[in-house]
Amino acid sequence: MEIINQFTKVDYLFAGSGASATLLLMCMAKEGLLKDKKVLIIDPDTKQYNDKTYCFWSEQNEQLTLQCKHLISHAWDQVCVNKNEPESLLPKKYFHISGMDVYKELRRIIDQHHLIWIQGSVTNLSLSENGIKVVTDTDSWESSFVFDSRPPKYVPLKKDDAHLLQSFIGYVISSDTPISNLNCVDLMDFNIEQLGSTQFMYVLPLGDEKILVELTRFGVDLITQNEAHPILDSYIRQRFGNYQIEHIEKGCIPMSTAAVSVEALPGVIPLGGRAGAIKPSTGYAFKNMFHHAERLVESLKRNGTPAIISESSRFRFYDRLLLMILSRQPSQGKLIFETLFKKNTTKNVLHFLDEKTTLLEDAQIFLTLPMKPFLKAVGWVLRARMHRLITPFLVLLLSLLLLVMYKISPLLLNYIQIPLFTLGIFMVGIPHGAVDHLLETGNFKKRVTPRFVMNYLGLAFLNLLVWLIFPIGAVVLFVLYSAWHFGQTDIKEWELKKANRIKISSWGILLLGIILLGHLAETNRILDHMKVIEIPLPYSLGKQISVLLALLGIVWARHEKSWRMLLSSLMLLVSIELPLITSFGLYFLGQHSINGWSHLKQGMKANNISLYYMALPFTLGALVLFVAFFFLLVNTNLSEFSENLLALFFVFISCISFPHVLAMNRFYHSKLKQ
Ligand SMILES: Cc1cc2nc3c(=O)[nH]c(=O)nc-3n(C[C@H](O)[C@H](O)[C@H](O)COP(=O)(O)OP(=O)(O)OC[C@H]3O[C@@H](n4cnc5c(N)ncnc54)[C@H](O)[C@@H]3O)c2cc1C
Repeated sequence: MEIINQFTKVDYLFAGSGASATLLLMCMAKEGLLKDKKVLIIDPDTKQYNDKTYCFWSEQNEQLTLQCKHLISHAWDQVCVNKNEPESLLPKKYFHISGMDVYKELRRIIDQHHLIWIQGSVTNLSLSENGIKVVTDTDSWESSFVFDSRPPKYVPLKKDDAHLLQSFIGYVISSDTPISNLNCVDLMDFNIEQLGSTQFMYVLPLGDEKILVELTRFGVDLITQNEAHPILDSYIRQRFGNYQIEHIEKGCIPMSTAAVSVEALPGVIPLGGRAGAIKPSTGYAFKNMFHHAERLVESLKRNGTPAIISESSRFRFYDRLLLMILSRQPSQGKLIFETLFKKNTTKNVLHFLDEKTTLLEDAQIFLTLPMKPFLKAVGWVLRARMHRLITPFLVLLLSLLLLVMYKISPLLLNYIQIPLFTLGIFMVGIPHGAVDHLLETGNFKKRVTPRFVMNYLGLAFLNLLVWLIFPIGAVVLFVLYSAWHFGQTDIKEWELKKANRIKISSWGILLLGIILLGHLAETNRILDHMKVIEIPLPYSLGKQISVLLALLGIVWARHEKSWRMLLSSLMLLVSIELPLITSFGLYFLGQHSINGWSHLKQGMKANNISLYYMALPFTLGALVLFVAFFFLLVNTNLSEFSENLLALFFVFISCISFPHVLAMNRFYHSKLKQ
């Protein structure tokens, strides 16, 4: 066996060795994908005790059941809700696997396939020349692929998100009264106090006169032992008489509609909770993780590259509605679940929870449920989503309005756009770039250090040197880093799936292409002022390319199912007919700066007032510079001088943009990871 050390590049690195990693390794081992591979597994936890049990329902001949057969410790044919008549699940069964057996299975695979397990915490993943660089608390490694199952971190909640906790405390008891039906699981028994949340008992007869009685809460607050004990005690005494506690099981599963923050790096494949495998409305994940593992193995076998999990937007929408109800109107939870199981067979409900139902079957299930809370939840979601569409919609409307004015008279356009854009520049244009000194620490109390100013000016000066030595290179650089910066802000704002570098740069180049090529005469005039080469294209061709690019944006937006991207592409399309300054102003102020400002507020957990306050010194500084510039421009009659001044202005903008783009790039990577 080859010794793996820090200098060895491995084929597969597993960050985390819990359930999802084990299921994937089981599937890979079965398909012979671990043969001759260097596999490294890193986890801080040595898994010496049983911290979880995994339950799931499936048919006996399903791959999940067949492949996990040797791990299954209990199986039940029947389930009941609220102690009603037991219902048969056959051909499905409800299965139970103990966490310890999963960990033993992992050790077996490690030994059998000579994999390496090391204790450690993965702290960072980044792209390296040879794949992915994985940094732990003590070492660093390189791997072609990283399967990342570290616990999920969620991006900040939006208005239509809900984040609850499924917390539970369970007693494994032996009792005086033997359980009457050993073959039946009590999935949910709501005949207990709700304490302002949605709470139920979950009862599993474990055989040998042992029963797991678990109090589960779907709520914003974690259930505490002090809250749980009296409820568990009275429930157990009423149902099973005197009892002894053999073991206490506690746990918490996130139930969230918020997106999981993941490293969007090629070669990093999230697993388990990090891949969104936990069904938000139930907390079940085992089955999803197994199916994800199967799909990953299929894609590895096909082309050597593992695929990312895909989600059903329809079922995520249903989950969202339920979680919004549970978080805003927790008292409705009991009624909804009781009605769900009363008016539908458990088999149908489980089929629905497996996300296997058709739209018609979904409708049939929803029609049995209390309508009012769901209609309310639809209203909340729509209102939140409309809210996000208001700004891009207004900017599109404004572009149409300005176009009408421009067609009536260019002078009329100027009367409107000059005060409008001046206001925009001071409201968001300058302020969004005036808090760069806070971005690295996110600390409001941090003062501007001389080191920060030196670095910032140094970078601007470096850029100026490029302008002096190689102006064409400086223009290309300016366009490229602007494209990256604009793309980064937009893609973050639209929350596109798999937001990676290719998407960011493609969108940035596309939008600058629309603006610059759509106004080629004006673009070339500016390039001429800057004494650099003009774009050698007929103006009409430039315009045609620009229109095509805008249409491409529309098609792309449709593909991404992003309304905000669609509105932005439409606005850019309309703005081709407007002058360059108007087109750029609409984009830069109406979209880029507004969104950048809102990301800053979100990432630094600040409100408008505190952020404006922190932006004040640099905003005032910029104000002085702008006033001076316009004063010079307006008061000089020498056209050549004023043209030089215009060129100088663009060079100046490019120089101060450079450190800003770098600061924002770091901010997006550290504070606002996708
Ligand atoms: C108590 C409990 C009971 C559950 N019961 C069920 C159930 O019955 N049925 C069901 O379908 N789902 C259940 N779930 C939900 C889900 O199946 C589990 O959360 C499951 O463990 C998720 O698998 P995972 O691999 O994503 O996470 P885990 O199994 O938690 O594995 C993550 C691993 O990452 C390691 N790790 C943490 N930080 C780092 C780091 N920095 N670097 C490297 N490794 C790190 C951890 O030590 C851990 O081993 C349960 C969850 C909990 C918490």
